Amino acid sequence: MSLAYSRPSQTKIIATIGPSCDQPVILRQLISSGVDVVRINSAHSSVEDCARKLTLIRAVAEELAQPVAVLLDLAGPKLRLGRLVGDQVYCRPEGVIRLIRGDTATQPDELVSTYPSLVDEIGPGDRILLADGTVELRVEEVKHGVAFCRVIQPGVVRSRQGINVIGVRVRVRALTPQDREFAIWAAENAVDFVGLSFVRLPEEVNELKALLQSRGSHAQVVAKIEKVEALERLDEIVQAADVVMVARGDLGIEADIAELGVLQKRIIRVCRQLGRPVIVATQMLDSMQSQLMPTRAEVADVANAIIDGADACMLSGETAVGQHPVEAVSMMHRIALATEPFLTASYAELPAREGTAGAEEITEAAAEAAVRLAVRLRAKCLVAGTARGHTALKLSRYRSGVPIVGVTDNPATWRRMCLYWGVIPLLGPKSPQPEGLLSYVLDWGKRRSILAPGDIIVLLAGHGFSRGAQNMIMIHQVD
Ligand code: PGA
Ligand code: MN
Repeated sequence: MSLAYSRPSQTKIIATIGPSCDQPVILRQLISSGVDVVRINSAHSSVEDCARKLTLIRAVAEELAQPVAVLLDLAGPKLRLGRLVGDQVYCRPEGVIRLIRGDTATQPDELVSTYPSLVDEIGPGDRILLADGTVELRVEEVKHGVAFCRVIQPGVVRSRQGINVIGVRVRVRALTPQDREFAIWAAENAVDFVGLSFVRLPEEVNELKALLQSRGSHAQVVAKIEKVEALERLDEIVQAADVVMVARGDLGIEADIAELGVLQKRIIRVCRQLGRPVIVATQMLDSMQSQLMPTRAEVADVANAIIDGADACMLSGETAVGQHPVEAVSMMHRIALATEPFLTASYAELPAREGTAGAEEITEAAAEAAVRLAVRLRAKCLVAGTARGHTALKLSRYRSGVPIVGVTDNPATWRRMCLYWGVIPLLGPKSPQPEGLLSYVLDWGKRRSILAPGDIIVLLAGHGFSRGAQNMIMIHQVD
């Protein structure tokens, strides 16, 4: 299989770092093959471990002289099995298994969890799914701190595997004390995105934002939609978040797995309406953990996610623990390149967002007009001067297919734009006027052989990278 990398895809690729790629050589290949954002999963790391990975990612990005954003994913209140006798329990068909308090089992047919009071919060009829939903139990009776559970779907479970309790509002908060520790570390180390797992309420997103801001961080919060409760308040959660993730791994356990396809479409639609970037995650090229070629279903899944409107597609086990991390990234990149022309051929104007006013409304109207001009004039690129990345994001939303060069003087914004569909982040001079911005981009484009005489660029700018309205559109023909 060819690993040749022709040009960046407009769809962004997120790769999870793990033992399969956490050496400089492999990580360099991953990034050179199309990875825009690297995810560090705190569920399987210590703070020291995260720090080591962050240093590695920054060193490789620096060496390649390109922006790479970092997403620190907080584990959240994921319930896990505690230590089991012999580290595993076989749940035999229709057998009865006892779930007890505490986190260390003493009997072979006993289950324990990392959430000591779980037994007190469940009752007869509740469903308990273990090990990514492969084993299912139904609670029959809870007596003296012991839950007697009937095995509905048999199988083997191991120490530390996940527990999903269905239909019970377990009283755990999205931001655990351990998450707070990781979040503070992220804030102090200029991490770009922080993922919040098992969100149920918009207040939980705001709580993480406030914590990050209290430490002087502008990290963006990624709300991971993986609980049924989150679907009940989806609009408010999307509104509160900076970015959203369709976290299909846990969502496929917590909700009816048969609904996963329509849930993905529904979540993406809300994100598109509210102008939030959205990531589709989990098992996108799962079989490539051990095979060199993906299944047909996986290829179609990545393509469909892009057509649904995903800004970014994510690889988890494929790059973290799989045997072919580089091939998985290359494959995702190839699928994106093959799919994008189809997507942009159906470019249509989007309805204006409701409830915008003032500078924001002016910027949105100007962005809409700039996109229309760029499409009409078959422009080589759209250029946006942007302080925090908002203008680039507004242009991205249209999926016009015209590459968007997001120019900023802020390194954090430069990295943040790595997640935005169709945006090429460019670090520019300090607060230029529109003419300065134009000549900077012309220079860059000619040096990179991106721009040639006759090409048209459409530039959207305000005064410098002002936080006010982007109130100026310029059409320029390269001479
Ligand atoms: P996870 O999140 O990999 O951290 O569990 C993604 C998912 O649940 O799909
Ligand atoms: Mn999850």
